[in-house]
Amino acid sequence: MIYLDHNATTSLDERVLAAMLPFLKTYYGNPSSLYRHGRLVRSAIDTAREQVAALVGVSAPQIIFTSGGTEANNLALATLSPNANFAVSAIEHPSIIEPALHLKTQGHDLTMIAVDSNGRITQDAINQLIDCQPQLVSMMLANNETGVIQPIASYAEQLKAHDISVHTDAVQALGKIPVSFDALNVDLMSLSSHKIYGAKGCGALVVGKNITINPLLRGGGQEQNLRSGTENVAAIIAFGKAAELAKNELTERSEQLLALRTLLEQQLTSIPQLTIFAQHADRLPNTVMFGIENVDGEMLVMQLDTKGIAVASGSACASGGSQPSHVLLAMGMTPEQAKTAVRISLGIANTAAEVTDFVSTLKSLIA
Ligand code: PLP
Repeated sequence: MIYLDHNATTSLDERVLAAMLPFLKTYYGNPSSLYRHGRLVRSAIDTAREQVAALVGVSAPQIIFTSGGTEANNLALATLSPNANFAVSAIEHPSIIEPALHLKTQGHDLTMIAVDSNGRITQDAINQLIDCQPQLVSMMLANNETGVIQPIASYAEQLKAHDISVHTDAVQALGKIPVSFDALNVDLMSLSSHKIYGAKGCGALVVGKNITINPLLRGGGQEQNLRSGTENVAAIIAFGKAAELAKNELTERSEQLLALRTLLEQQLTSIPQLTIFAQHADRLPNTVMFGIENVDGEMLVMQLDTKGIAVASGSACASGGSQPSHVLLAMGMTPEQAKTAVRISLGIANTAAEVTDFVSTLKSLIA
């Protein structure tokens, strides 16, 4: 199989698997237990917390482990005070859009931030937000479908100067571009492990100094009382190891991904009627979304699958439905244009030969 869907999920790095295995077999103690068998596990979780914290440049207590990016995003929105107004961008992942729409039904005033045709939040939109004075603004660092990167640091600085808190979903940016919590000027940031060669079912919310979290889960008081429930120990250890590797190998990984993406885009441009979406925006080094006029994206995905090639149409997390991508619609595309979308998201194990194979298979399918 040629796997080109790393924004949906990545394989588990062998080194990560080796780090987590002992915590599925030998070290099965409960980290809250007082005896040695539990304390050992607690100390391994502490190390993982430090490794994740180091990847985004914060101190360990600022990391709250969650069940993934979805829970981290829900927890970030749960910081809202009763009836407070807030804003999210129109291109957010469903794990922001859906809880935001739910909060709206509960009496919160919600502003949807528009994007331009390149999928970027504009300075005008930020100026308008400042006039509305929301309590919280959520804007993703990099989009999972188009790969477009937002100028979060500059926008967050302006919003914070007006006492507006900022959350960023950094799930897709992590491990692909440098992500520094402080440099981004944000108050809250969501992370997920299975997008950086860690295990599924684990993520984190990074919390800034003066932010109050309203827990979604109450119980035994784990995670500083902010997220109760016995820790998903092996997955947390895996997240720590994956974060350590991502930090050490970041430059090499992003250069390698960018070289592959450049090759892919060069080859794609020889296909008539093919458009790379948001091509001239600042994008993740691994992501290319394109459409071929009058060719259904989902149909292409199925046909490529029969040739042993895994790619996505629109957002993998939202797949199952055949609605056109809300991200592309927000960028001003018609539903017909949006339905042509195919997403390639490269990973660190992909090769130039795989990219070439993919493009020649694609050409033969559309011929
Ligand atoms: N945010 C973004 C931008 C994503 O792409 C995803 C998953 O694709 C998530 C959040 C959800 O993360 P998780 O799968 O860990 O719940």
